[in-house]
Amino acid sequence: MPHITTQAIVLRHADYREHDRMLTLFSPTLGRVEALCRGCKKVGSPLLNCSEWFAFGEYVLYTGKGRMTVVSCNLTESFYALRSDWDKLKYATYMLSVCEAMVQPNEQNVHLFTLLVRSLSRLCYQDKDARAVTAAFLLHAASIGGYRPRLSHCVKCGRRLDDTEIRHFDPEDGGLVCPPCSEMMDRLLSLSPRENAWMRDVLTVGIDKTELPTDDAPAALLSAFLEERLEKPIRHKGLF
Ligand SMILES: [Zn+2]
Repeated sequence: MPHITTQAIVLRHADYREHDRMLTLFSPTLGRVEALCRGCKKVGSPLLNCSEWFAFGEYVLYTGKGRMTVVSCNLTESFYALRSDWDKLKYATYMLSVCEAMVQPNEQNVHLFTLLVRSLSRLCYQDKDARAVTAAFLLHAASIGGYRPRLSHCVKCGRRLDDTEIRHFDPEDGGLVCPPCSEMMDRLLSLSPRENAWMRDVLTVGIDKTELPTDDAPAALLSAFLEERLEKPIRHKGLF
């Protein structure tokens, strides 16, 4: 079928010729898709809004001559308010980069797509701390990717830890390390009992229901953890 209809979000765009853009789309069913958006930079083009960062809609794509082209788009949401808040914009752009690193071409990922839409909506329309929303996004993204962190037992010896012992997190094995095991290891990240409790609560009840303070959201730790597991650096200058 030369024409494909799919939901998608624009993860990035790059200028291409005078009036065109090359879009990197995230489709829940097709994964990461590079698609040419012809004429979208012309004044009055119906494709302009759907070629912007964060644009979310139903895209009709044409496959031909070895590449995808955007034929039309029914825009669901532009998340326009993100553009007028620098703090929210930085974190939202970072979430797009995380998805770009996690999603492969021709690889279905409905759960990560749904998580991205919900997280962008939270940033855009709710008065929530942007860093905590991003930490929750990273935590759930890691779980979706098969890296759900272990937050109650030592990843080295398997012993259950109580709160007084929680000080370190191993980004390579993805979980807590008890004090005796930590003495033999380097590259551990610092983790407080309160940060650990925040992650456990958000994994259990979600960020909308947790009543723990947003200051306890370990965004930098989760960012470092996900980069380690994906084996890819993800640009986050000035965020954590
Ligand atoms: Zn141990």
